Amino acid sequence: MTSQNPAANFVKQEVWEKDRDHFVHPWTDFSTFKESGSMVFQQADGVSVQDADGKRYLDGIGGLWCVNIGYGRDEIAEAVAEQIRAIPYFSTFGHHTTAPAARLAAKLAELAPGDLNHVFYGCGGSVANDTAVRLIHFYFNQLGKTSKKQIISRIDGYHGSTYMAMSITGVQFDHIGFDVERQLVHHISCPNPYRRPEEQSLEAFCDEKVQELEDKILELGPDNVAAFFAEPIMGAGGVIVPPPGYHQKTLAVCRKYDVLYVSDEVVTAFGRLGHMFASEDEFGIVPDIITCAKGLTSGYLPLGATIFSDRIYDVISKPQADGALFTHGFTYSGHPVSCAAGLKNIEIMEREGICDHVQDVGAYFEQRLHELKALPIIGDVRGRKFMMCLESVADKTTKELIAPEAKIGNRIADECQQRGLIVRPLAHMNILSPTLILSRQDVDFVVETLRESIEAATESLKVDGYL
Ligand code: PMP
Repeated sequence: MTSQNPAANFVKQEVWEKDRDHFVHPWTDFSTFKESGSMVFQQADGVSVQDADGKRYLDGIGGLWCVNIGYGRDEIAEAVAEQIRAIPYFSTFGHHTTAPAARLAAKLAELAPGDLNHVFYGCGGSVANDTAVRLIHFYFNQLGKTSKKQIISRIDGYHGSTYMAMSITGVQFDHIGFDVERQLVHHISCPNPYRRPEEQSLEAFCDEKVQELEDKILELGPDNVAAFFAEPIMGAGGVIVPPPGYHQKTLAVCRKYDVLYVSDEVVTAFGRLGHMFASEDEFGIVPDIITCAKGLTSGYLPLGATIFSDRIYDVISKPQADGALFTHGFTYSGHPVSCAAGLKNIEIMEREGICDHVQDVGAYFEQRLHELKALPIIGDVRGRKFMMCLESVADKTTKELIAPEAKIGNRIADECQQRGLIVRPLAHMNILSPTLILSRQDVDFVVETLRESIEAATESLKVDGYL
Protein backbone atom coordinates (compact mmCIF):
# COMPACT_ATOMS: atom_id res chain seq x y z
CA MET A 1 0.00 0.00 0.00
CA THR A 2 1.43 3.42 -0.91
CA SER A 3 0.56 6.82 0.43
CA GLN A 4 -0.86 9.65 -1.72
CA ASN A 5 2.17 11.73 -0.80
CA PRO A 6 5.26 10.97 -3.00
CA ALA A 7 7.65 12.56 -0.45
CA ALA A 8 6.26 10.26 2.26
CA ASN A 9 6.72 7.27 -0.03
CA PHE A 10 10.33 8.23 -0.64
CA VAL A 11 11.07 8.48 3.13
CA LYS A 12 9.32 5.19 3.74
CA GLN A 13 11.36 3.46 1.02
CA GLU A 14 14.59 4.98 2.34
CA VAL A 15 13.92 3.84 5.92
CA TRP A 16 12.76 0.41 4.77
CA GLU A 17 15.94 -0.19 2.75
CA LYS A 18 18.37 1.07 5.41
CA ASP A 19 16.60 -1.02 7.98
CA ARG A 20 16.65 -4.16 5.86
CA ASP A 21 20.29 -3.77 4.90
CA HIS A 22 21.84 -2.65 8.20
CA PHE A 23 19.65 -2.95 11.29
CA VAL A 24 20.03 -6.41 12.84
CA HIS A 25 16.72 -6.89 14.63
CA PRO A 26 16.27 -8.85 17.85
CA TRP A 27 14.56 -12.25 17.70
CA THR A 28 14.15 -12.17 13.93
CA ASP A 29 14.22 -14.83 11.26
CA PHE A 30 16.85 -13.20 9.05
CA SER A 31 16.09 -15.49 6.12
CA THR A 32 12.59 -14.05 5.70
CA PHE A 33 13.62 -10.59 6.92
CA LYS A 34 16.02 -10.18 4.01
CA GLU A 35 13.06 -10.58 1.65
CA SER A 36 10.26 -8.75 3.37
CA GLY A 37 11.99 -6.18 5.61
CA SER A 38 10.09 -4.29 8.28
CA MET A 39 6.80 -2.57 8.77
CA VAL A 40 7.73 1.03 9.55
CA PHE A 41 5.92 2.81 12.38
CA GLN A 42 6.04 6.53 12.53
CA GLN A 43 3.53 7.84 15.02
CA ALA A 44 1.43 6.88 18.00
CA ASP A 45 -1.09 8.28 20.39
CA GLY A 46 -3.30 6.88 23.12
CA VAL A 47 -3.92 3.17 22.48
CA SER A 48 -2.89 3.21 18.80
CA VAL A 49 0.11 3.33 16.50
CA GLN A 50 0.34 4.41 12.86
CA ASP A 51 2.45 2.95 10.09
CA ALA A 52 4.33 4.94 7.45
CA ASP A 53 1.20 5.04 5.27
CA GLY A 54 -0.78 6.62 8.08
CA LYS A 55 -2.83 3.46 8.70
CA ARG A 56 -3.86 3.16 12.38
CA TYR A 57 -3.69 0.00 14.42
CA LEU A 58 -4.86 -0.59 17.93
CA ASP A 59 -1.70 -1.72 19.67
CA GLY A 60 -2.68 -5.00 21.28
CA ILE A 61 0.83 -5.65 22.59
CA GLY A 62 1.62 -2.36 24.34
CA GLY A 63 4.85 -1.94 22.37
CA LEU A 64 6.30 -5.08 23.98
CA TRP A 65 4.28 -5.41 27.21
CA CYS A 66 5.55 -1.99 28.22
CA VAL A 67 3.67 1.11 27.03
CA ASN A 68 1.42 0.95 30.07
CA ILE A 69 0.10 4.52 30.19
CA GLY A 70 -0.32 4.70 26.41
CA TYR A 71 1.34 6.84 23.77
CA GLY A 72 1.66 10.58 23.32
CA ARG A 73 2.08 11.71 26.91
CA ASP A 74 3.33 15.30 26.68
CA GLU A 75 3.99 15.36 30.40
CA ILE A 76 6.69 12.74 30.01
CA ALA A 77 8.20 14.59 27.04
CA GLU A 78 8.32 17.73 29.17
CA ALA A 79 9.80 16.02 32.24
CA VAL A 80 12.47 14.44 30.05
CA ALA A 81 13.29 17.71 28.24
CA GLU A 82 13.46 19.57 31.57
CA GLN A 83 15.85 16.99 32.99
CA ILE A 84 18.07 17.09 29.89
CA ARG A 85 18.29 20.86 30.19
CA ALA A 86 19.01 20.71 33.94
CA ILE A 87 21.57 17.88 33.90
CA PRO A 88 21.36 15.12 31.30
CA TYR A 89 23.82 12.79 32.93
CA PHE A 90 26.19 12.35 35.81
CA SER A 91 27.86 9.28 37.19
CA THR A 92 26.23 7.70 40.23
CA PHE A 93 29.29 5.65 41.12
CA GLY A 94 30.28 6.18 44.74
CA HIS A 95 28.86 9.21 46.48
CA HIS A 96 27.28 11.11 43.57
CA THR A 97 23.59 11.26 42.73
CA THR A 98 20.84 13.25 41.04
CA ALA A 99 17.36 14.13 42.27
CA PRO A 100 15.32 11.87 39.93
CA ALA A 101 17.41 8.78 40.75
CA ALA A 102 17.05 9.35 44.49
CA ARG A 103 13.35 10.25 44.36
CA LEU A 104 12.43 7.31 42.14
CA ALA A 105 14.31 4.89 44.43
CA ALA A 106 12.35 6.21 47.42
CA LYS A 107 9.10 5.92 45.46
CA LEU A 108 9.84 2.32 44.46
CA ALA A 109 10.68 1.48 48.09
CA GLU A 110 7.32 2.94 49.11
CA LEU A 111 5.41 0.95 46.49
CA ALA A 112 7.28 -2.36 46.76
CA PRO A 113 6.03 -4.94 49.26
CA GLY A 114 7.49 -5.65 52.70
CA ASP A 115 10.99 -4.43 53.45
CA LEU A 116 12.10 -4.23 49.82
CA ASN A 117 13.57 -0.78 50.34
CA HIS A 118 16.73 -0.77 48.23
CA VAL A 119 16.99 -0.14 44.51
CA PHE A 120 19.79 -0.89 42.06
CA TYR A 121 19.27 0.54 38.57
CA GLY A 122 20.14 -0.82 35.14
CA CYS A 123 18.81 -0.31 31.63
CA GLY A 124 16.27 -3.12 31.32
CA GLY A 125 14.91 -6.39 32.57
CA SER A 126 17.79 -8.69 31.60
CA VAL A 127 20.28 -6.53 33.41
CA ALA A 128 17.98 -6.33 36.44
CA ASN A 129 18.11 -10.13 36.61
CA ASP A 130 21.89 -10.26 36.10
CA THR A 131 22.22 -7.74 38.91
CA ALA A 132 20.07 -9.98 41.11
CA VAL A 133 22.45 -12.92 40.51
CA ARG A 134 25.55 -10.87 41.30
CA LEU A 135 23.84 -9.45 44.40
CA ILE A 136 22.84 -12.90 45.61
CA HIS A 137 26.32 -14.34 45.11
CA PHE A 138 27.92 -11.41 46.91
CA TYR A 139 25.37 -11.64 49.74
CA PHE A 140 25.99 -15.33 50.43
CA ASN A 141 29.76 -14.89 50.14
CA GLN A 142 29.65 -12.17 52.76
CA LEU A 143 27.66 -14.49 55.02
CA GLY A 144 30.41 -17.08 54.58
CA LYS A 145 28.02 -19.38 52.66
CA THR A 146 30.34 -19.43 49.68
CA SER A 147 28.98 -22.63 48.17
CA LYS A 148 25.51 -21.15 47.73
CA LYS A 149 25.67 -20.27 44.03
CA GLN A 150 23.19 -22.42 42.09
CA ILE A 151 20.05 -20.93 40.59
CA ILE A 152 16.76 -22.72 39.97
CA SER A 153 14.19 -21.48 37.44
CA ARG A 154 11.41 -22.99 35.33
CA ILE A 155 11.00 -24.37 31.83
CA ASP A 156 9.20 -21.66 29.82
CA GLY A 157 10.26 -18.93 32.26
CA TYR A 158 11.66 -15.90 30.44
CA HIS A 159 14.23 -13.73 32.18
CA GLY A 160 16.12 -11.91 29.44
CA SER A 161 18.79 -12.04 26.80
CA THR A 162 22.09 -11.18 28.47
CA TYR A 163 24.22 -14.27 28.97
CA MET A 164 23.16 -14.96 32.56
CA ALA A 165 19.52 -13.98 32.09
CA MET A 166 19.27 -16.23 29.04
CA SER A 167 20.81 -19.06 30.98
CA ILE A 168 18.10 -18.60 33.62
CA THR A 169 15.47 -18.42 30.87
CA GLY A 170 13.81 -21.78 30.40
CA VAL A 171 12.16 -21.27 26.99
CA GLN A 172 13.76 -24.19 25.15
CA PHE A 173 13.48 -22.65 21.69
CA ASP A 174 15.61 -19.67 22.78
CA HIS A 175 18.51 -21.98 23.64
CA ILE A 176 18.68 -23.75 20.28
CA GLY A 177 21.92 -22.98 18.47
CA PHE A 178 23.73 -21.35 21.41
CA ASP A 179 24.86 -24.06 23.85
CA VAL A 180 24.39 -21.64 26.75
CA GLU A 181 26.63 -22.44 29.72
CA ARG A 182 24.33 -24.04 32.28
CA GLN A 183 26.52 -25.02 35.21
CA LEU A 184 24.86 -22.49 37.51
CA VAL A 185 21.27 -22.89 36.40
CA HIS A 186 18.78 -25.73 36.80
CA HIS A 187 15.29 -25.79 35.34
CA ILE A 188 12.28 -27.43 36.89
CA SER A 189 9.07 -27.99 34.97
CA CYS A 190 6.51 -25.39 34.01
CA PRO A 191 3.39 -25.12 36.20
CA ASN A 192 1.03 -24.92 33.22
CA PRO A 193 -2.43 -26.05 34.40
CA TYR A 194 -3.74 -26.43 30.81
CA ARG A 195 -1.19 -29.14 30.07
CA ARG A 196 -1.62 -31.13 33.29
CA PRO A 197 -2.87 -34.72 33.10
CA GLU A 198 -6.62 -34.71 32.62
CA GLU A 199 -7.41 -36.65 35.78
CA GLN A 200 -5.15 -34.56 38.05
CA SER A 201 -6.74 -31.91 40.31
CA LEU A 202 -5.28 -28.40 40.38
CA GLU A 203 -4.26 -28.94 44.02
CA ALA A 204 -2.42 -32.16 43.26
CA PHE A 205 -0.79 -30.51 40.24
CA CYS A 206 0.35 -27.58 42.37
CA ASP A 207 1.74 -29.84 45.10
CA GLU A 208 3.63 -31.87 42.51
CA LYS A 209 5.30 -28.74 41.10
CA VAL A 210 6.18 -27.44 44.55
CA GLN A 211 7.60 -30.83 45.50
CA GLU A 212 9.72 -30.71 42.36
CA LEU A 213 11.34 -27.49 43.60
CA GLU A 214 12.05 -29.05 46.99
CA ASP A 215 13.44 -32.20 45.35
CA LYS A 216 15.71 -30.11 43.13
CA ILE A 217 17.04 -28.17 46.14
CA LEU A 218 17.71 -31.44 47.98
CA GLU A 219 19.32 -33.00 44.91
CA LEU A 220 21.71 -30.05 44.46
CA GLY A 221 22.18 -29.73 48.22
CA PRO A 222 20.63 -26.75 50.09
CA ASP A 223 24.13 -25.47 50.83
CA ASN A 224 24.68 -25.04 47.10
CA VAL A 225 21.39 -23.39 46.12
CA ALA A 226 21.24 -19.60 46.18
CA ALA A 227 17.99 -18.57 44.55
CA PHE A 228 14.77 -19.42 42.79
CA PHE A 229 13.68 -17.14 39.93
CA ALA A 230 10.00 -16.97 38.96
CA GLU A 231 7.68 -14.61 37.12
CA PRO A 232 4.32 -14.18 38.91
CA ILE A 233 2.69 -15.02 35.56
CA MET A 234 5.07 -16.40 32.95
CA GLY A 235 4.96 -14.02 30.01
CA ALA A 236 6.98 -14.90 26.93
CA GLY A 237 6.64 -18.60 27.79
CA GLY A 238 2.92 -18.34 26.96
CA VAL A 239 1.22 -16.36 29.76
CA ILE A 240 1.11 -19.24 32.21
CA VAL A 241 -0.85 -18.54 35.38
CA PRO A 242 0.31 -21.07 37.97
CA PRO A 243 -2.24 -23.02 40.04
CA PRO A 244 -3.57 -21.28 43.18
CA GLY A 245 -1.10 -21.29 46.07
CA TYR A 246 1.93 -22.09 43.89
CA HIS A 247 3.88 -18.94 44.69
CA GLN A 248 3.16 -19.08 48.42
CA LYS A 249 4.16 -22.72 48.61
CA THR A 250 7.34 -22.29 46.58
CA LEU A 251 8.27 -19.32 48.74
CA ALA A 252 7.81 -21.47 51.86
CA VAL A 253 10.14 -24.11 50.36
CA CYS A 254 12.72 -21.40 49.63
CA ARG A 255 12.50 -20.07 53.19
CA LYS A 256 12.97 -23.60 54.58
CA TYR A 257 16.34 -23.96 52.80
CA ASP A 258 17.56 -20.35 52.95
CA VAL A 259 17.09 -19.96 49.21
CA LEU A 260 16.32 -16.41 48.05
CA TYR A 261 13.13 -15.88 46.05
CA VAL A 262 13.43 -13.54 43.06
CA SER A 263 10.14 -12.40 41.59
CA ASP A 264 10.68 -11.26 38.01
CA GLU A 265 8.06 -8.56 37.63
CA VAL A 266 9.45 -7.11 34.41
CA VAL A 267 6.01 -7.57 32.81
CA THR A 268 3.64 -7.80 35.78
CA ALA A 269 4.65 -4.63 37.67
CA PHE A 270 3.22 -1.16 37.11
CA GLY A 271 -0.37 -1.96 36.56
CA ARG A 272 -0.57 -4.80 34.03
CA LEU A 273 -2.48 -6.94 36.56
CA GLY A 274 -4.07 -3.97 38.34
CA HIS A 275 -1.36 -3.47 40.98
CA MET A 276 1.92 -1.61 41.14
CA PHE A 277 3.52 -4.95 42.05
CA ALA A 278 1.76 -8.27 41.59
CA SER A 279 3.85 -10.41 43.96
CA GLU A 280 2.02 -9.42 47.11
CA ASP A 281 -1.22 -7.88 45.86
CA GLU A 282 -2.12 -10.59 43.34
CA PHE A 283 -0.26 -13.62 44.70
CA GLY A 284 0.22 -12.95 48.42
CA ILE A 285 4.00 -13.21 48.63
CA VAL A 286 6.77 -10.87 49.70
CA PRO A 287 9.84 -12.09 47.81
CA ASP A 288 13.43 -11.20 48.69
CA ILE A 289 14.08 -9.45 45.40
CA ILE A 290 11.84 -7.98 42.70
CA THR A 291 13.21 -7.21 39.26
CA CYS A 292 11.33 -4.76 37.05
CA ALA A 293 11.71 -2.65 33.88
CA LYS A 294 9.30 -2.04 30.96
CA GLY A 295 6.26 -0.38 32.63
CA LEU A 296 8.59 1.46 35.02
CA THR A 297 8.86 4.19 32.36
CA SER A 298 6.01 2.83 30.21
CA GLY A 299 8.76 2.20 27.66
CA TYR A 300 9.37 5.92 27.08
CA LEU A 301 13.05 5.44 28.04
CA PRO A 302 15.11 2.38 28.98
CA LEU A 303 15.25 1.67 32.71
CA GLY A 304 15.29 -1.40 34.93
CA ALA A 305 15.52 -1.91 38.67
CA THR A 306 16.48 -4.65 41.12
CA ILE A 307 14.63 -3.95 44.35
CA PHE A 308 15.78 -5.87 47.42
CA SER A 309 15.21 -6.36 51.11
CA ASP A 310 16.66 -4.72 54.21
CA ARG A 311 18.01 -8.15 55.13
CA ILE A 312 20.17 -8.29 51.97
CA TYR A 313 21.15 -4.64 52.19
CA ASP A 314 22.26 -5.02 55.83
CA VAL A 315 24.69 -7.73 54.79
CA ILE A 316 26.12 -6.11 51.67
CA SER A 317 26.46 -2.69 53.30
CA LYS A 318 28.59 -3.85 56.25
CA PRO A 319 32.37 -3.42 56.04
CA GLN A 320 33.53 -6.78 54.64
CA ALA A 321 36.31 -8.76 56.29
CA ASP A 322 38.04 -9.30 52.94
CA GLY A 323 37.65 -5.63 51.94
CA ALA A 324 35.21 -6.57 49.18
CA LEU A 325 32.88 -3.94 47.80
CA PHE A 326 29.80 -4.65 45.71
CA THR A 327 31.79 -3.83 42.57
CA HIS A 328 28.86 -3.82 40.22
CA GLY A 329 27.17 -1.11 38.17
CA PHE A 330 26.80 0.56 34.84
CA THR A 331 27.56 3.94 33.33
CA TYR A 332 23.82 4.41 33.08
CA SER A 333 22.81 3.12 36.53
CA GLY A 334 20.31 5.70 37.78
CA HIS A 335 20.33 7.67 34.52
CA PRO A 336 18.62 10.94 35.53
CA VAL A 337 16.59 11.31 32.34
CA SER A 338 15.21 7.75 32.48
CA CYS A 339 14.48 8.20 36.20
CA ALA A 340 12.66 11.48 35.49
CA ALA A 341 10.52 9.59 32.95
CA GLY A 342 9.89 6.84 35.52
CA LEU A 343 8.83 9.31 38.21
CA LYS A 344 6.44 11.09 35.88
CA ASN A 345 5.07 7.76 34.66
CA ILE A 346 4.26 6.64 38.21
CA GLU A 347 2.78 10.05 39.02
CA ILE A 348 0.45 9.74 36.02
CA MET A 349 -0.49 6.17 36.96
CA GLU A 350 -1.41 7.23 40.48
CA ARG A 351 -3.22 10.41 39.48
CA GLU A 352 -5.31 8.66 36.81
CA GLY A 353 -6.00 5.59 38.91
CA ILE A 354 -4.59 3.28 36.22
CA CYS A 355 -4.57 0.26 38.56
CA ASP A 356 -8.27 0.76 39.36
CA HIS A 357 -8.99 1.10 35.65
CA VAL A 358 -7.20 -2.21 35.01
CA GLN A 359 -9.16 -3.88 37.81
CA ASP A 360 -12.33 -2.79 36.05
CA VAL A 361 -11.69 -2.79 32.27
CA GLY A 362 -8.95 -5.44 32.49
CA ALA A 363 -11.48 -7.78 34.12
CA TYR A 364 -13.90 -7.03 31.25
CA PHE A 365 -11.11 -7.77 28.74
CA GLU A 366 -10.41 -11.10 30.43
CA GLN A 367 -14.10 -12.01 30.50
CA ARG A 368 -14.72 -11.07 26.86
CA LEU A 369 -11.63 -12.90 25.61
CA HIS A 370 -12.89 -16.05 27.31
CA GLU A 371 -15.86 -15.94 24.90
CA LEU A 372 -13.41 -16.86 22.11
CA LYS A 373 -12.99 -20.27 23.66
CA ALA A 374 -16.18 -21.20 21.84
CA LEU A 375 -14.27 -21.03 18.52
CA PRO A 376 -13.27 -24.47 17.21
CA ILE A 377 -9.48 -23.97 17.30
CA ILE A 378 -9.13 -22.00 20.55
CA GLY A 379 -8.08 -24.55 23.16
CA ASP A 380 -7.17 -22.19 25.97
CA VAL A 381 -7.68 -18.56 26.89
CA ARG A 382 -5.54 -17.67 29.84
CA GLY A 383 -3.95 -14.85 31.76
CA ARG A 384 -5.28 -12.05 33.90
CA LYS A 385 -6.40 -8.51 33.18
CA PHE A 386 -4.19 -7.01 30.45
CA MET A 387 -1.83 -9.97 30.23
CA MET A 388 -3.59 -12.59 28.12
CA CYS A 389 -2.92 -15.39 25.65
CA LEU A 390 -4.93 -17.50 23.23
CA GLU A 391 -3.67 -21.01 22.50
CA SER A 392 -4.77 -22.63 19.24
CA VAL A 393 -5.07 -26.40 18.91
CA ALA A 394 -6.07 -28.89 16.22
CA ASP A 395 -8.23 -30.87 18.63
CA LYS A 396 -9.74 -29.40 21.77
CA THR A 397 -10.25 -32.75 23.45
CA THR A 398 -6.77 -34.15 22.95
CA LYS A 399 -5.17 -30.65 22.95
CA GLU A 400 -3.12 -31.77 19.98
CA LEU A 401 -1.28 -28.88 18.33
CA ILE A 402 -1.78 -27.67 14.76
CA ALA A 403 1.27 -28.55 12.60
CA PRO A 404 4.01 -25.96 13.35
CA GLU A 405 4.53 -25.29 9.60
CA ALA A 406 0.97 -23.95 9.48
CA LYS A 407 2.17 -21.02 11.65
CA ILE A 408 -1.26 -20.48 13.11
CA GLY A 409 -0.06 -17.70 15.44
CA ASN A 410 1.24 -15.74 12.44
CA ARG A 411 -1.91 -16.39 10.43
CA ILE A 412 -4.09 -14.95 13.18
CA ALA A 413 -1.73 -11.99 13.71
CA ASP A 414 -1.70 -11.23 9.95
CA GLU A 415 -5.49 -11.34 9.77
CA CYS A 416 -5.68 -9.01 12.79
CA GLN A 417 -3.18 -6.61 11.23
CA GLN A 418 -5.26 -6.33 8.05
CA ARG A 419 -8.19 -5.37 10.28
CA GLY A 420 -6.26 -2.73 12.24
CA LEU A 421 -5.15 -4.66 15.31
CA ILE A 422 -1.65 -5.73 16.30
CA VAL A 423 -1.33 -8.95 18.32
CA ARG A 424 1.82 -10.96 18.96
CA PRO A 425 2.26 -14.39 17.44
CA LEU A 426 4.22 -16.88 19.51
CA ALA A 427 4.31 -20.28 17.78
CA HIS A 428 0.73 -21.59 18.10
CA MET A 429 -0.24 -18.83 20.53
CA ASN A 430 -1.19 -15.16 20.35
CA ILE A 431 -0.34 -12.77 23.12
CA LEU A 432 -2.31 -9.72 24.15
CA SER A 433 -0.72 -7.11 26.38
CA PRO A 434 -2.23 -3.79 25.31
CA THR A 435 -1.74 -0.37 26.87
CA LEU A 436 -3.57 -0.16 30.18
CA ILE A 437 -5.82 2.71 29.12
CA LEU A 438 -8.09 0.67 26.84
CA SER A 439 -11.77 1.63 27.07
CA ARG A 440 -14.57 -0.94 27.05
CA GLN A 441 -15.21 0.05 23.45
CA ASP A 442 -11.56 -0.69 22.60
CA VAL A 443 -11.91 -4.07 24.31
CA ASP A 444 -14.98 -4.83 22.17
CA PHE A 445 -13.01 -3.91 19.03
CA VAL A 446 -10.12 -6.19 20.03
CA VAL A 447 -12.37 -9.15 20.79
CA GLU A 448 -14.52 -8.82 17.67
CA THR A 449 -11.46 -8.32 15.46
CA LEU A 450 -9.85 -11.38 16.99
CA ARG A 451 -13.00 -13.39 16.43
CA GLU A 452 -13.16 -12.48 12.72
CA SER A 453 -9.41 -13.04 12.32
CA ILE A 454 -9.46 -16.45 13.98
CA GLU A 455 -12.40 -17.48 11.80
CA ALA A 456 -10.54 -16.33 8.67
CA ALA A 457 -7.34 -18.10 9.80
CA THR A 458 -9.32 -21.28 10.48
CA GLU A 459 -10.71 -21.20 6.94
CA SER A 460 -7.21 -20.73 5.51
CA LEU A 461 -5.99 -23.73 7.54
CA LYS A 462 -8.75 -25.82 5.99
CA VAL A 463 -7.91 -24.60 2.48
CA ASP A 464 -4.25 -25.49 3.05
CA GLY A 465 -5.16 -28.93 4.39
CA TYR A 466 -4.05 -28.46 8.01
CA LEU A 467 -7.50 -29.06 9.51
N1 PMP B 1 12.00 -10.73 32.39
C1 PMP B 1 10.79 -10.84 31.82
C2 PMP B 1 9.70 -11.52 32.58
C3 PMP B 1 10.58 -10.33 30.54
O1 PMP B 1 9.37 -10.48 29.95
C4 PMP B 1 11.63 -9.68 29.87
C5 PMP B 1 11.46 -9.07 28.50
N2 PMP B 1 10.36 -9.38 27.78
C6 PMP B 1 12.87 -9.60 30.52
C7 PMP B 1 13.02 -10.12 31.77
C8 PMP B 1 14.04 -8.95 29.83
O2 PMP B 1 13.85 -7.58 29.78
P1 PMP B 1 14.67 -6.70 28.73
O3 PMP B 1 14.26 -7.12 27.38
O4 PMP B 1 14.26 -5.29 29.09
O5 PMP B 1 16.12 -6.91 29.00
